[in-house]
Amino acid sequence: MAQPLLVADDVRKSFGRLTVLDGVSVGVNHGEVLGVVGPNGAGKSTLLNVFSGVTSADSGSLTFDGSDIRGVTAAARCRRGIGRSYQVPRPFSDMSVFENVLVASRFGAGLGEATARTVALEALDRTGLTARANSPAGGLRLLDRKRLELARALATQPRVVLLDEIAGGLTEHELPPLVTMIGGLRDSGVAVIWIEHVVHALLAVADRLVCLTYGKIVAEGEPSDVMASDAVQRSYLGADLDADL
Ligand code: ADP
Ligand code: MG
Repeated sequence: MAQPLLVADDVRKSFGRLTVLDGVSVGVNHGEVLGVVGPNGAGKSTLLNVFSGVTSADSGSLTFDGSDIRGVTAAARCRRGIGRSYQVPRPFSDMSVFENVLVASRFGAGLGEATARTVALEALDRTGLTARANSPAGGLRLLDRKRLELARALATQPRVVLLDEIAGGLTEHELPPLVTMIGGLRDSGVAVIWIEHVVHALLAVADRLVCLTYGKIVAEGEPSDVMASDAVQRSYLGADLDADL
């Protein structure tokens, strides 16, 4: 039976008078890819920030592997196994690709130097970046910057990885390798929460989908059913949605 790994229950978050998360309850199971769709401004990145500890929720509960993590710092959540990518990648441009990933394994995961190097090399291998290991991160093309974002998340040895629009800006032929990498993560037992506007990439790998619209989950379930639902159609009315609806 599916075991919940990372769960938010009735989470609320406001910035001043703007309610961004309005009672969100959502969880990801061990070894599951949960896709998150929703229009711009829906609160998707804020939800990932609340899970990773970058932003604190105003109320509601957050559990990871059965433990309450509300009082746990972002750094400690990372060491416990909550890894993430950012919507806007900011690698250390002057450092090499390998050094960027090493920072994640050494300081994100808190590993000793020798193990950190091994884990960093594995993360490069899994994301197809080994040939770029010694290149300056600042000179990477977009697909490799996305790979580096994933490699940095993997190097923290996550049990769940939170991906924020990692497919954005990639060309059609660059998407399949990314989808394969994310499927490979799931197959190795890592849970994934993937926010994505490039819906057909998400549909290729997601086990379950939720739609977040202005702070509320308006649809949840089997991905193609969710995309076809009235609630999702309404949320995207007038928006530039990349999917065959
Ligand atoms: P999404 O990722 O779905 O596009 P976000 O979670 O980034 O949405 O943002 C949801 C809303 O919250 C937006 O209106 C955004 O401007 C606002 N917001 C996000 N972060 C902050 C912040 N730190 N301070 C004030 N408003 C914020
Ligand atoms: Mg966002």
